[in-house]
Amino acid sequence: MPKSVIVTGGSRGIGRAIVEKLASEGHTVAFNYKGNQEAADELVRQIESKGGKAWAGRADLSDFDDAARFTGEAREFLGDLDVLINNAGITRDKSLFIMPREDWNDVINTNLTGYFNTTRNVVGYFMKNKKGCIVNVTSVSGLVGLPGQTNYCASKAGIIGFTRSLAKEIAKLGIPVNCVAPGYIETDMTRKMNEKHVAQITKMIPMQRLGQPEEVAEVVSFLISDRARYVTGQVFTIDGGMTA
Ligand code: NAP
Repeated sequence: MPKSVIVTGGSRGIGRAIVEKLASEGHTVAFNYKGNQEAADELVRQIESKGGKAWAGRADLSDFDDAARFTGEAREFLGDLDVLINNAGITRDKSLFIMPREDWNDVINTNLTGYFNTTRNVVGYFMKNKKGCIVNVTSVSGLVGLPGQTNYCASKAGIIGFTRSLAKEIAKLGIPVNCVAPGYIETDMTRKMNEKHVAQITKMIPMQRLGQPEEVAEVVSFLISDRARYVTGQVFTIDGGMTA
């Protein structure tokens, strides 16, 4: 059945692949961008040209009021809401002893508080209507520590705790809350890394390659479907075997 879906950070990378996949399955998708309006508008046009329905709005989701405004506008476009996919995230990698407070705050405020901001603004609607579904994009960095990523790992581990707790709070209403935890996926986020580092990482991945955003979108597509309706509070790792 077609669903009404919000995807955060849908303009690029993993979020974009999720928007494309869900729109191609007949779902109506509202997504945000933070600064990259051109990419967002181009994606809406691309989906519409294939007969799909999508809308994009600007928002800085690290800000509670902006998240409230965005989720309100998205729901107006959608007319209803069945699914929230929290995906927007950033990195500011640095060893802790030289990490500026701003880099710590930006990452926690975007990756962790951002997920609170959107979820807090829609969860009451889900509970009142006894329906809904939430998927949170975390990372293998939430499962294992990585040097230079104390801020990012803390935010991603936080998302896992947030997901498990909320899943238990609202399970009796039949609202699943799950995480996907990608490993290294080819997006702008990993394109920032130097080639030597990527070659070293690739050697550590049993499948000997980085993942594609579409491979994450496939798992999200399953998790929002009725095929996964008895699954909640779980973390689905998509990492080519890296954490096996
Ligand atoms: P990306 O290509 O850099 O895209 C990030 C998206 O988030 C963009 O749409 C961006 O909007 C949006 N965004 C950034 N800051 C925002 C803010 N404050 N408010 C609202 N939107 C904001 O990233 P990605 O690689 O696809 O990553 C997506 C998610 O997957 C993140 O949560 C990331 O931590 C996670 N992840 C990625 C990997 C990987 O290897 N790539 C691995 C594990 C987990 P603009 O386009 O306007 O900038």
